[in-house]
Amino acid sequence: MPDLEVIIGLEVHAQMNTKTKMFCNCDNDAFNKQPNTTVCPVCMGHPGTLPVANEQAVEKAIAASVALGCTISEHNHFDRKHYFYPDLPSGFQISQYDFPLAQHGQVEYDLPTGSDGKTSTSKVCRIHRLHMENDAGKLTHEGNKTLCDYNRAGTPLMEIVTEPDLRNSDEAVAFAEELRRIVVAVNSSEADMFKGMMRFDASISLREKGTEKLNPRSEIKNLNSFKALKNALQYEEKRLRKLWEETNGPMTGDITVGWQDDEGKTRLLRSKETADDYRYFPEPDIPPLHVPAEKVEAVRASLPPLPRALKQKYVDLKLTAAEANMLVDLPKLSALYDAVHAKTGDAKKASGLILTQLMGFLNAHHKTLDDLPGEADILELVDNMENGIISGSAGKQVLEEMLLTGKTAPEIIKEKGLMQVSDDGAIEELVKRAMEANADSVAAYRGGKQAALGAIVGWIMKESKGSANPKKVNEVLVKMLG
Ligand code: ZN
Ligand code: MN
Repeated sequence: MPDLEVIIGLEVHAQMNTKTKMFCNCDNDAFNKQPNTTVCPVCMGHPGTLPVANEQAVEKAIAASVALGCTISEHNHFDRKHYFYPDLPSGFQISQYDFPLAQHGQVEYDLPTGSDGKTSTSKVCRIHRLHMENDAGKLTHEGNKTLCDYNRAGTPLMEIVTEPDLRNSDEAVAFAEELRRIVVAVNSSEADMFKGMMRFDASISLREKGTEKLNPRSEIKNLNSFKALKNALQYEEKRLRKLWEETNGPMTGDITVGWQDDEGKTRLLRSKETADDYRYFPEPDIPPLHVPAEKVEAVRASLPPLPRALKQKYVDLKLTAAEANMLVDLPKLSALYDAVHAKTGDAKKASGLILTQLMGFLNAHHKTLDDLPGEADILELVDNMENGIISGSAGKQVLEEMLLTGKTAPEIIKEKGLMQVSDDGAIEELVKRAMEANADSVAAYRGGKQAALGAIVGWIMKESKGSANPKKVNEVLVKMLG
């Protein structure tokens, strides 16, 4: 058996989060709406209707293209891609064939190398092309009936095709996750996997190490999660390796398979000797699309920092890669983190409060990011800790209460009597009593044993049930021990 190399390329469909559909004015948000209520004659493919390209969709596709490092074509047009399926009422999809919006990009992504997620290697996957098209409707099979919902028909899609640069399922997933972060960051797509807003087709083939030629590939259709992407690629790689062993070489033609998530297997859908013939021809109802360079530059100038740059910012603050990724993936959380960091000037303190404590409570109490306390409320808590009004451990308790009850930090501090004793008189009184109760330690300290101080401070903290401000206690104690 020769040493084999795995070659993987992805085709990604991402729904754009526009107000209206790709070629008509129908509402593009069909979530929780009755079937077939966000439709019109255009997206239902009625004869004689005229599609009009959605400018907002074009702008969002340009933003994604720029973020993926692509070159954007000034001259574009749309093409009809013909096929028959009940989810496609017009009998053709309006797509882009020989003049895609953008080409030749690349995405840098991090491949985790350690099991702890703390180390990673930087990799690159080239982008072959990005084009715009419309989504089809959704079919639901119930027994021997099929229900058709055309709400999704006409939703603007970006199809992003990579070069075959990925070498295993881990790389494919790490790349796909970075791609998702990018399209979300530039607000081109919500890319919510649960709602099917981002879907993958993965092509996989094998070749002998050291050879350059691409062998016929197996294309796995419609993978709806990162987990399905990983499992399907691992399964298909194993299957192709076995096949190679049995037939002493690669497959003789391309095949298309479907991933059966419940069975954990792929199933042959069709074998194709040659490329499918969709009888593409230029869409006669939509004029060619001109994208001037100034427009591209305007979009480029308006883009927010990309996820990798953002991640680097957090890594530079000495956060772990896993913490940095969490912040990049959750903009709500990173806004809180940034606010606490700005206030305290202490990156570690901010990560302790936001990433360790707050996220810990969120998970422990099965809350979501929508339940997070507001930024102003969190900063008020931080104020109370920074000013020594409450201790760090009381702060943790207050944070949990804030999450559970929605009350503000001052309310909880008052209710629970968590205020630290910082009052000079009260502290002096405590110190005096401590010195009487710990005469041995006082003598030891005065005899030169610095460590004896700890025992006295410990006594005071115990006596005050943790409410004495430790900094104050130390100051007063050292002064009184003179
Ligand atoms: Zn419509
Ligand atoms: Mn497509």
